Amino acid sequence: MTPNGAGLKEIHNLRLRLQELTDEIARGPRQIAARQQLVDKKKTELEARRAKLKLLKVAADQKNLQLKTNEAKIHDLQGKLNAATSNREFDALRSQIAADSMANSVLEDEILEALEGCDAAQKEITTFEAEIATAEAELAKFTAQVKQKEPDLMAQAAQLEAKVTDIEKILPADILPQYRRLVQSYGPRALAPVHGTACGECFVGQRQQTIVELRAGKMVFCTCGRLMYLADDE
Ligand SMILES: [Zn+2]
Repeated sequence: MTPNGAGLKEIHNLRLRLQELTDEIARGPRQIAARQQLVDKKKTELEARRAKLKLLKVAADQKNLQLKTNEAKIHDLQGKLNAATSNREFDALRSQIAADSMANSVLEDEILEALEGCDAAQKEITTFEAEIATAEAELAKFTAQVKQKEPDLMAQAAQLEAKVTDIEKILPADILPQYRRLVQSYGPRALAPVHGTACGECFVGQRQQTIVELRAGKMVFCTCGRLMYLADDE
C-alpha cells in the first residue's frame, strides 16, 4: 500500500473510532435527560393525585359536618317531641325525626365510602412516592456513572482528534476544501475503501484507470463524492 493509501485507511479508521466516541459522549446526557423527563412526569402525576386526595378529604369532611348538623337537629326535635302537647304535633315530630334519621343513615354510608376512597387514594400515593424515590435514586446513580466516564471519553476523543489532524497532513492542499466539506456532511464516511474495484460506499465499480491511479497513491474521489483508498492493497 502506498503511504497515501495507508494514510487514508488510517484516517478512515481513526475517524470511525472518533465518531463512535463522540456518539457515546452525546448519548450519556441524552439518556439522562430522557430519564429525568420520566421522573418529572411521575412527579406531576403525583401532584395531581395529591390534589385529588385533598378534594376527596374535603368532600368527606363536608358530609361529616352535615351529619353533625343533622344529629343536632334530630336531638332538638326529640326535645320538642318530649314536650309535645298534642297527638298531631307528636306524630308530625315523630315522622320528621324518622325521615331525618333515614337521611343520616344514608349520609353515614356515604361518609364510610368517602373515607374508604381517601384510604385507597392515600395508599396509591404512598406506592407512587416509593416508585418515584426509586426512579430518582436510579437516575442519580446513572448520572454519576455517565459523569464519571465522561472525562476519559473526552480525553480519548481529543487524543484521536490530534492523531487525525496529524495524519490529515498527507492530504494535498488542493483537495482540502472538498475533503472538509465531505467530512462535514458524511463524517467518517467521507472516505471509502475500495474492495476489488467497487467503492465501499456506493458499490459502483471503478475503471481500471482509477484503480491504477489509486495504486499509485493519487487522491481520487468517487462519483458518490467519497475519497477512495484501496482496502485490499498491501
Ligand atoms: Zn462511491
